[in-house]
Amino acid sequence: MQQTVTRLKKNAWLDGVVIFSFAAVLLALFVQYDAFEYVVEFSDRHEAWELDEILTLLMVMSPAAALFAWRRGRETREELFGRIKAEQEAQKLSLHDPLTGLPNRQNITEQIQRALITADTAPFTLALIDMDRFRDINDLHGRGVADRLLAAVAERLADAAGSGATISRLSSNEFAVLLLDLPSEKALLSRLQSLADCFLKPFELAGKTFSCAASIGVTHVTQPRLSVDDALSQADAAMHRMKACGLGGFSFFETGMEEAALRRARIGMELAEAIGQDRIQPYYQPLVDLINGRIIGYEVLARWHLEDGCVRLPDDFISVAEDTGLINELYYSMLRQTAQEVRHWPSDLTFALNLSPAQFDDEWLVHKTLQILAEAGVAPGRMEIEITESALANDIDRARAIIREFKRQRIQVALDDFGTGYSSLRHLRELDFDKLKIDRSFIHDLNANPTSQMIVRSVTSLAHSLGLQVTVEGIDSLLNADKVIGYGCDIGQGFLYGPPSRERLEASFALEYAA
Ligand code: C2E
Ligand code: CA
Ligand code: CA
Repeated sequence: MQQTVTRLKKNAWLDGVVIFSFAAVLLALFVQYDAFEYVVEFSDRHEAWELDEILTLLMVMSPAAALFAWRRGRETREELFGRIKAEQEAQKLSLHDPLTGLPNRQNITEQIQRALITADTAPFTLALIDMDRFRDINDLHGRGVADRLLAAVAERLADAAGSGATISRLSSNEFAVLLLDLPSEKALLSRLQSLADCFLKPFELAGKTFSCAASIGVTHVTQPRLSVDDALSQADAAMHRMKACGLGGFSFFETGMEEAALRRARIGMELAEAIGQDRIQPYYQPLVDLINGRIIGYEVLARWHLEDGCVRLPDDFISVAEDTGLINELYYSMLRQTAQEVRHWPSDLTFALNLSPAQFDDEWLVHKTLQILAEAGVAPGRMEIEITESALANDIDRARAIIREFKRQRIQVALDDFGTGYSSLRHLRELDFDKLKIDRSFIHDLNANPTSQMIVRSVTSLAHSLGLQVTVEGIDSLLNADKVIGYGCDIGQGFLYGPPSRERLEASFALEYAA
């Protein structure tokens, strides 16, 4: 804008100088050759032509013409300034996100491009921030609330990013932060921690409280040979790694992560079709009554049958299903397939399905579960739900409501992976579970590790005192089994009794063991 104005001013001066010089030369010639005398003489000679009137008219017209030119000039200038301002506004809009006012993707791309040129002498850091489960907030509370939440998040991030940082909104729930000129590693880490801390405190909007976690992926760029896309996909890979941990916070890019990110993207693309075609199928792992050795039910574990005959394990696709919002479809598909098979099982056998935290916001969860069970003619009392500890950290109120709803329908609820979360006892006190499943990490070294022994023993007596049954996962040897039976645990699960299998295993070992 400034450049255009300067150019226009220069042109106007130039025009003025040319016109003034031309007039001065003309006047000088008139004076030099007494031109006016000739004009008067000529006018007198041709009195009939009324040249004196014409000349008078011309003299009167010239100030009017000057005034007219000045007014037109002023209007043109105003018009021009208006146009330049509009162009400037349009340029600003094209480089900023209208909702948050932050620089948009194109804007930060250009800035990263510039930073890359000198990355060897002035390394920089790029952080990608992805809000977890934002889609659920959108679906559950509407676009208006979701937009206000984004604006509030943007404001907190901008404060935390501090000076020398550019923060940008890349897509609906994804932000990027470009950090330049940070003096030390310590300063960088503290800045990243400030960004992560933005999500610790809940957001108060429309009279409600929103807890909102985020995963942050960070790459530190020192090579000018990298492209903008390379830098972004490195940060993206680190972000996905952080998301897979499910703990929030930040993680730095390491070599090899990009392949993992590509693999996840490929799995995400194939997932909807695999669910639709029932290629993800329920496998059943026996749950054994430790007192009498009888199978009392099965845990349902998902297995994805690939076209080449291989089987893909849940650790590879459950978190992708959560991220892509396909986890609800997967749960209903697993439940439908299981219910169709359970109707042919002996009627005293139960089955347990795993529930993902991403399903907490599904308003129809319990209703649809009951509907699928009814269609298959399976009593709700035969079903159990397993909820992992990490799931509870995010939204304990919602977890409480879901557990209550399931229990009202006589569906039992177990706290899964007990001991791996960070507020286990609080969950036991605040939520009304029927069962507690001690995580298998305490079992695999049970014989050699006195701490694990002490934990399993005291957790079991605590659970019993609260009226909960105790299931022990990962029992893979007779020694383990003996120990947990000795501690008074109620139910056992593990390779000793049978692996997860497509057909319902009549675990012969369990029956022998009972004898
Ligand atoms: P989980 O709920 O803790 O399930 C038990 C896992 O322990 C299963 O792994 C099972 O194969 C494994 N396991 C069983 N016995 C033993 C043993 O003796 N030793 C050892 N080392 N491992 C044993 P899997 O099937 O790979 O599932 C992993 C996790 O994926 C599950 O952990 C569960 O959290 C999740 N998952 C599986 N299926 C589903 C599903 O349909 N929906 C959801 N939301 N999550 C699922
Ligand atoms: Ca489980
Ligand atoms: Ca478990």
